[in-house]
Amino acid sequence: MKIFNEIKLAQELIRFPTVKTEDKGIMKFLSKKLTAIGFKCTIIKSKGTGPKPALNLYARFGKSKPHMSFLGHTDIVSNLNNWKIPPFKGVIRKGYLNGRGAQDMKGGVACWISAVSNFIKNNKFKGSISIIITADEETTGYGCPAVMKYLRRKGEKIDFSVVGEPSSNKSVGDEIRIGRRGSMNGIVTVYGKSGHSAFAGTYINPCTTLAKIIAKLKSSSLDNGTKFMPPSNLEFTKMNVDNLSENVVPQSASAKFNVRFNSKHKSASLKKKLSKIINAVAKKEKCKTKIEYRVSGEAFYTKPNKEIYMVKKIVKKVTGKSAKLNCRGGTSDSRFLGSIPRLELGLRNTTIHMVDERSPISDLKKLTKIYYNILENYF
Ligand SMILES: [Zn+2]
Repeated sequence: MKIFNEIKLAQELIRFPTVKTEDKGIMKFLSKKLTAIGFKCTIIKSKGTGPKPALNLYARFGKSKPHMSFLGHTDIVSNLNNWKIPPFKGVIRKGYLNGRGAQDMKGGVACWISAVSNFIKNNKFKGSISIIITADEETTGYGCPAVMKYLRRKGEKIDFSVVGEPSSNKSVGDEIRIGRRGSMNGIVTVYGKSGHSAFAGTYINPCTTLAKIIAKLKSSSLDNGTKFMPPSNLEFTKMNVDNLSENVVPQSASAKFNVRFNSKHKSASLKKKLSKIINAVAKKEKCKTKIEYRVSGEAFYTKPNKEIYMVKKIVKKVTGKSAKLNCRGGTSDSRFLGSIPRLELGLRNTTIHMVDERSPISDLKKLTKIYYNILENYF
């Protein structure tokens, strides 16, 4: 069986211009590689950004427990003008692999596949390894939920997942993500009673009530934070009163807000809590309200367990440095993994989404070594 070289594989992946949910043959290419080392590959379709569906890959090696999974994506962001080195050539120069996706995250995908090919060839083990590659992490995010739905239907259970997003900052492995905050948007509209502003007592001003609601929400503490996440925070981002007259008290006023919340909350209970505060103020002021919410992601968090401490130890062994466990950064496909224990550990994020994205070759080598050790220690 073959052992794939991480640098060569990363170069090959970079050469597929997989902007948005364009496939360009990359999933077929990956399926072929993984089938050659014993994986069973399934393509799972999801809604694409264009007329064609997005193609996601689920590859599994082995049937027994425990089941460790890797989650990555092969789609890339654009920002493709003014590059010094063409973005889809995979050029190696002065110790760097250049190209879109070198860090985010074709590089990480290549490191994992390289480590797995080496591990399978040289070890007998009990358990399964799977690889999930999505095609729309940077855009719509339908791919990962589609794969999760497929796994539920097939009754396949993942015991631990490594998400290969570029979590590292100054050196490979210096940061490991063990969760992310949730995000929810809201619009509160307050209805009063309009009237002539000269006749106090004949109108109910929704502006005054809205101001009181904002003050009350801002002065209500949501929590004190957790060990790995800061206190949840609500910010008002827009206020609006449709009123063209200076001497008319308007009928309604509205405001938009965003809440970044930690793992002490679920969006459902948070909605209840906020609505209760808003409605209590409105009732006192004799106003009615309409509150709309849109959840963009629940907070999630894996309590540091034996797998996470094992990975921390491996990072120390390979790099000589201690990894920091945190919940920083933007969102990723990891949010769709439900209650699966997981961590995010990948290359550095120093040039992601930028012009001239690149990764030091030595980083790719280091990450492959870390991944190999994770496999060896887990099984
Ligand atoms: Zn990414």
